[in-house]
Amino acid sequence: MALHTHHPHKLKKHILSLIRACTCINHLQQIHAHAIITSPSPPSSSYHAIITTILTGLLHLPTTSIHYAKLLFNHLYNPSIYHLNSIIRAMAHSPSPCNAITFFTSHMHTHRPNHYTFQFLLKALSLSSSLSLSLSVGFQLHSFAYKLGMVSYTFFNNGLIHLYSLCGHVFIARQLFNEMGQRDEVSYSSMINGYVKSGELGSALDLFKDMPELGSPSAWTAILVGYSDNGDLGSARKFFDEMPEKDVVAWNAMVSGYTQNGLYAEAIFFFREMQKVQNLKPNATTMATILSACAGLGALDTGKWTHAYIERKGMKLDAFLGSALVDMYSKCGEVELGLQVFTGLKQRKNLCAWNAMINGLAIHGRAAQALEFFKQLRKEGIEKPDQITFIGVLSACSHGGFIDQGRAHFYNTMKIYGVKPIVEHYACMVDLLGRSGFLDEAEEVIRNMVIKPDIVVWRALLGGCRLYKNVQIGERVIAHMEAHSSGDYVLLSNIYASAGRWVDVSRVRKMMQESGIKKVPGWSSIEFGNVIHEFVSGDKTHPRYGEIYEKLDELKRKLKKEGYLAETGMVLYDIEEEEKEEALGHHSEKLAIGLGLISTPPGSTLRIVKNLRVCSDCHSVTKLISLIYGREIVVRDRIRFHHFNYGTCSCKDYW
Ligand code: ZN
Ligand code: ZN
Repeated sequence: MALHTHHPHKLKKHILSLIRACTCINHLQQIHAHAIITSPSPPSSSYHAIITTILTGLLHLPTTSIHYAKLLFNHLYNPSIYHLNSIIRAMAHSPSPCNAITFFTSHMHTHRPNHYTFQFLLKALSLSSSLSLSLSVGFQLHSFAYKLGMVSYTFFNNGLIHLYSLCGHVFIARQLFNEMGQRDEVSYSSMINGYVKSGELGSALDLFKDMPELGSPSAWTAILVGYSDNGDLGSARKFFDEMPEKDVVAWNAMVSGYTQNGLYAEAIFFFREMQKVQNLKPNATTMATILSACAGLGALDTGKWTHAYIERKGMKLDAFLGSALVDMYSKCGEVELGLQVFTGLKQRKNLCAWNAMINGLAIHGRAAQALEFFKQLRKEGIEKPDQITFIGVLSACSHGGFIDQGRAHFYNTMKIYGVKPIVEHYACMVDLLGRSGFLDEAEEVIRNMVIKPDIVVWRALLGGCRLYKNVQIGERVIAHMEAHSSGDYVLLSNIYASAGRWVDVSRVRKMMQESGIKKVPGWSSIEFGNVIHEFVSGDKTHPRYGEIYEKLDELKRKLKKEGYLAETGMVLYDIEEEEKEEALGHHSEKLAIGLGLISTPPGSTLRIVKNLRVCSDCHSVTKLISLIYGREIVVRDRIRFHHFNYGTCSCKDYW
């Protein structure tokens, strides 16, 4: 940095222009040091001009140092409200926005705040993580501004409306709104937003209709978000089509509405439409939502394409997008790629990323590795494991059959981190104990639950009862269960069947028929060439169904040669939710595999997603297909992944 000019006035001008060109704190500090060394004592007015400019320059840097700004502020001979406001604004947008309030209160006796001060303070409150604190400070600021005669400023009131409704006091916000002398678009949209956030969509709509002109873009978007959050996608879509201006938030609301309601293919379709719009840039939220839609579908090709899109557009791969990618890859059956993303994350990994990784490894049955990552997370000690972490940890123990570790984490480690068990943790524990034959202990865990056991917990125990042919506990479980699905009766009848109690088997079957229990329709899907093909059991709607059924017939002949006998003996009893006895050969996953075999190059991997548990017949057939056709087949069922290869499955027939 060249400061070699000797004319004082020229030097000052030169320094000021240098400061304005600075892009990092180091350079500013160098100039500051130079100013200190060369300035006379007491400091001259030009020294103060330099400090002021350094302060302004500092606060305009993309990453600033609040600590240094405060230091400069204290060096100022006569700091003005402008300087105070600049620091308050910078603090409001820092990771600890509440510091702005503390800074203000320690200077409020020497500086009379103006409307900018209040605006920045309200901003700080609305960004703070403690809403109850924000609310009480908000009330105080409100009365302070009232004393100073500043409550007539529209944007001050808008800030208050935003703050009050953010804190759940939409009623107070509305009172303020009604009393306002002048309302602008922001007043309306803040109020509408407040209603939407507190679930009062009706009031939001009423106010929206009252808006002068056609409403503002942010008010339109707020209503759209309201429809989408309510799951009313029909109205959302209609409203979206009517919107005069659609910004990225509006598009995101549609994409996320579809994703959250399980309409993943629609979400992806919408994203493709979004790309056709000029001057509209999908942001990180869009990409994370699309990745979660890909995860829901198990659509690896689309997921990979999305990953490439993120890189092509130069979007920052931070912990937020990183965890979405890890989650997508593991739910699409490529946990190895998830690992690559995870280890490649340049920024500090947040808990979300760790959780995605640990849970991803767990559903793939890579239990030891999941627990290894958990160990690392604990060792680093930066992030504290939470409930989601322990779902991954316990389900890893359950999939891996690590009974002692499971007990230790459930009974001790969770307590160390103050994590209260939720129903998912109990379900994992009951599953782990049930699978390993500790049925009494599993029942004990349920009995000691502080929350009400749900159907998943009972079902986990029922599964253990079937495995170990325990009729007594099985009957007790069924008596406890409130909502029965066909699957539960199937499990019970299986327990009876395994104990040879045929009379009870037919009794349960009769109960099932009489109660008119609805079966959960089972489906399987397969993705290739960016298209997802869905099948239900015995499906004949696919355009290539003739060829698929031919392939399955060929398969049957080949299987016979291999000495395979369909598990018809079990069929009567071991039926899953979707199954019909006669349809055994045409279960949805078999149809999906059939389509995969005739449509993809020999030797390539087939990826199937199934919404229910894989039945034992499909499981053994898939093992043989992997051997006969030399294909790796990855099946994601309701709970976990099965990697079929060379005639075996990664779950070791334990699922
Ligand atoms: Zn099946
Ligand atoms: Zn398996």
